[in-house]
Amino acid sequence: MTLGKCDNEWEPCRLYRLTHDFIKTPIAGFMLDFDTFESRVDKHSRYDIRKCIKMGYITRVMTIEERNERLEQVKTINRSKEIRQDHKVKDFLWNPYPISTSECRNHPVTYFGCFKDDILYAYISIYRLGDTGHLTNIFGHGEHLKYGIVRFLFKFVAEYYKSQGVKIIIYHRLNNGTQGLIHWKKSMGFKEMKLDEVFS
Ligand SMILES: [Zn+2]
Repeated sequence: MTLGKCDNEWEPCRLYRLTHDFIKTPIAGFMLDFDTFESRVDKHSRYDIRKCIKMGYITRVMTIEERNERLEQVKTINRSKEIRQDHKVKDFLWNPYPISTSECRNHPVTYFGCFKDDILYAYISIYRLGDTGHLTNIFGHGEHLKYGIVRFLFKFVAEYYKSQGVKIIIYHRLNNGTQGLIHWKKSMGFKEMKLDEVFS
């Protein structure tokens, strides 16, 4: 597994530094391993995914420009639940701002959206570092979460990266998040792995 080199090797970009520090810490992280992903997704998640298709939700990649043009919809999603993971939604999410293109050409960020009738209801952002994906944001509209739209979107994201040759997706540490989030990760095929061993 590799994180790849930065555009400017002398001044590594923020996400490279973050991910590098993360994998060097001997704490288990959550990781999606594509070899076993599909067989690990649970029955409940599969049901949700089929339901979303029937209800007319669609998933696709968004360009950064589109994400910025839909800033009001991003804001509506972020504000649709005041408390997430037992915490108040942070200010930079409550008032999202336009983002510029990736800081480093070799470690680009990609946004993915779940839409219905051309309205954005969930989004995920992931940085690509070598053959690794680092999930940084995952949000769904509070009133649509019950339909499983985040699972539906995440399945698309996983298949997208698998087809691009990415081997794993990192999604925070084992001790990060509530029991609900940990359960969600497991139901979507994530497993605990010692990242320092995977990357050694
Ligand atoms: Zn970089």
